Parts: sequence; structure tokens; C-alpha cells
Amino acid sequence: MKTIFEKSNGVDGINLTDEKIDTSFLDSSLIRDEKIGLPQLGELDVMRHYKELSDRNFCIEKGFYPLGSCTMKYNPKVNEFLAGLENFANLHPLASDSDCQGALELMYKLQQALKVLTGMDAVTLQPSAGAHGELTGMMIIKKYFETKGDLRKKVIIPDSAHGTNPASAKMCGFDIVEIKSNEKGQVDIEALKAVLDKDVAAIMMTNPNTLGLFEENVLEISRLMHENGSLLYYDGANFNAIMGYTNPRLMGFDVVHLNLHKTMATPHGGGGPGAGPVCVTEDLKEFLPAPLIDFDGEKYFRNYNLKHSIGAVKAFYGNFGVLVKAYAYILMMGKNLKNASENAVLNANYLKEKLKKYYDLPYDEPCMHEFVLSGEKQKHENGVSTLNIAKALMDENTHPPTVYFPLIVHEAIMIEPTESETKEKMDEFVDIMIKIAKEAEVNPEKLISAPHTTPVKRVDETLAARHPDLKFQG
Ligand SMILES: *Cc1c(COP(=O)(O)O)cnc(C)c1O
Repeated sequence: MKTIFEKSNGVDGINLTDEKIDTSFLDSSLIRDEKIGLPQLGELDVMRHYKELSDRNFCIEKGFYPLGSCTMKYNPKVNEFLAGLENFANLHPLASDSDCQGALELMYKLQQALKVLTGMDAVTLQPSAGAHGELTGMMIIKKYFETKGDLRKKVIIPDSAHGTNPASAKMCGFDIVEIKSNEKGQVDIEALKAVLDKDVAAIMMTNPNTLGLFEENVLEISRLMHENGSLLYYDGANFNAIMGYTNPRLMGFDVVHLNLHKTMATPHGGGGPGAGPVCVTEDLKEFLPAPLIDFDGEKYFRNYNLKHSIGAVKAFYGNFGVLVKAYAYILMMGKNLKNASENAVLNANYLKEKLKKYYDLPYDEPCMHEFVLSGEKQKHENGVSTLNIAKALMDENTHPPTVYFPLIVHEAIMIEPTESETKEKMDEFVDIMIKIAKEAEVNPEKLISAPHTTPVKRVDETLAARHPDLKFQG
């Protein structure tokens, strides 16, 4: 496909003005002598160009998208409509409290809903993504210990954790202590005890962990941590698995972030925008980024009165549009929010049972909302790697699952169907995965050279990440 620069044919799409623009007030050194070189095309051709480009995107509306850990569920369109309402979309962030009572009320009620769901006492809606929530949470934990005059340097992180966990703690100045999982894929209590000392500020965990397994010893872990004067951080990106059934507070956690863009059905392909609210216990409320949204019985207001606030972590109040969509989703689901988790778990277990005959399943346990297969068998017997399987799925109008994560599973294939898929769609996916497993045996070359039908074939992913070349050289 040609770039819009190559398609440029000199046709005037729009005419800004016929009159010459007065530039006499500008210093002559600032005025360009040559044409800027923008592409020129008729308006309809511009539309066609961008439509063609957008058709190349894969999205949840196009096909199955079982990207483990990312919760690519259906995002109801009514949420978009609500977020786009004029009085939300055109509201100025510097409007006074009395001029934006509706928006403040929405944020306040969202905070309340998240408190109920997490069991926590206070919420900030500021962070704009999961990793941003982690950083916020770790800053709160750091300041909490500083305020107590108890400077602790270490943060414990299980080897099954999401990569952002150690990155966030490290950015905050903590030293990372990694602990190995046991043979059941769970945090190893003995390994935890061995590293627990008075220099440990916190543990960062997600439950279910990234293998999709519920940490059976979570209460024992929180008891050990609290006895040591340490705090527990809950990475709530996997909240889709437990919503309404249990919560981080019941498990003994002190700080939790949620990924509203995953759990609460707001679109997040291509990197955003997202929202990663952080919820804390009463003891940590004073450390939250100001302002919180409060209610005095009559009106809603921005509360800056937080004694030990870590300061703002984002301009204004977070990604407000995402908050509107998440709140709409919560209201729409009501008491049925629980069913989302129930079906997410049911769907994952269904796929796991159907696929384990064809692919290795390193941890053969009942899973939560996702599970991790391994492509080891295909790699060793047929020379077909997990990467090849992922590429072959693209030829089947299916987004590949998350691959090579978590790191503790070789040739990992991490599958999360989410609750919004039907049994029929999952059966189709099972058939595709079986077809690929059989193909690996009889025609491995076809998989090794996949994808065959996408506009772009294999790219050098390392080079693309290290030296992105985004400029058109005409
Ligand atoms: C997605 C995810 C994150 C990071 O969230 P972002 O919004 O992408 O920053 C952290 N932890 C887990 C377990 C995740 O799945």
C-alpha cells in the first residue's frame, strides 16, 4: 500500500482561505520560503486512504482476541456514546467545582464503586494506566515508610509477576528481590520467609498470578508480611477473574491498582488511553495524590487536604473519558458484574480442557480467567516454535495469544478468552488450534513461513523496537 505522500496528486482537497494571510507581524527569519511539502489529494481520496489503513488493523470487532493478561473483551458502544456526550467531552478541566458537579458526581460514584469492589477505603482516579498505578502505589508505600522514619529498601516480587512490577518498584528507588514459584506455580512460602527481613517494604503480587492460578496461600503471605511490618501491593490487572467473589482487602492487601481499560470494558488496543485507579486502606489515604473527589452531603468537591500526599501523578484528574466508560459499564452490569468473572473463568477452563490434549499444559490445575500452554512439544517434535504458532493464527483471522510470557514457562502461550466470547466462537478457536497442531506434524514449513495472508509478513521485532523508523523519506 502506498503512503499518502506517494498518492499525492496535487488536487486541492480544501481551501483554507483565498485571502493572503498577513504575516507582516512575524520576523522574516520565521517565514518559510519553500512549500512545506504536505500531500495533496481530494477529500474523498483522503477518506479512502485512511479507511484502507484502518482496515488493516486487527481489533476485537474483527475476530477472536485471546491476548492473555490483556483482557481484550467487548467494549459496549453505549459507553462510547456516553463518554462523547457534549457536557462530558467539552468540559474544561479548570472549570470550578460548582460548574462541573455532574462530572465530579460521576467520579465520586466511581470511587465508591471501586471501594466496594476492592474492599478498600480510599481511591485516586489519577493514574492513566496499570503501570502508572503501580508507580503511584509504590510511591505511596515509600512515603509511608519515610514518614514513619523506617527507611526500607527492598520489594519482593515473585518470578511469575508482570514485568511492569519490578520496573515500577525500581523506578521508585527500591531494590528488587525475586522469589521463585514452587512446582505448583504458586509463591513458595519457604522462599518468601528466607528473604523476609526488616528491610522489606512490600511484596507486589497479582492474584490470580500470571499463570492464571489463584494463590492458595495468600492469607499466610499477608500474615507473614504484616507481622514483619511490611505492606502488600496487589496488581489488580487480573481483577476480571475475581470481581464480586472476593477482593484484595479480604486477602490482606494494603494497596491495589485496577486496570479499568481491561476489567471495565474500555478499549485499549494500541496503547491507550487507559485508567489505573489506585485504592488503599484508611492508613494510606493521606498519601494519595491530591485531589480526591469528595462529597460534603450537598455538593461534590476536589479535596486537596491530604497531609502526606505524594503530589499529582497526572495533569488534572486522570483520563476522564475512560472513567465515564468504566462507570457506565459498572452501572450497566449492576449486580451481574459478578457474572462477568464467572463466565471469564468458565470460558478459560473450557478452552484449557479442550486444548490440553494437543499442547503441553505445564500447570494442569483449575485456572481462573486465563491459562498458559507451552509450545515445547511442537518445538521439539516438529521444529515449530510458539512464535510460528502465533504467526499461523494470524492467517486464521485470530489475534495471537500472549507469547513467551510468563517467563517461567518455556514457549509460553497465554490464553484469555474473556467472558464476552460465545461457546461457538471458542469452539472455532479450538478447531483452529487443533488444525495448527496437526499441521505442525505434517507440514511444519507452512507454519514456519507464516503468516501468508497479512499485509506485512515477518518483521524484525528487535530492530523495530530499538530503531523505530517512522519517517517517510520522499
Ligand atoms: C496489563 C498489565 C499491567 C500493566 O498495565 P498497563 O495499563 O498496560 O500499564 C500490569 N500487570 C498485569 C498483570 C497486567 O496484565
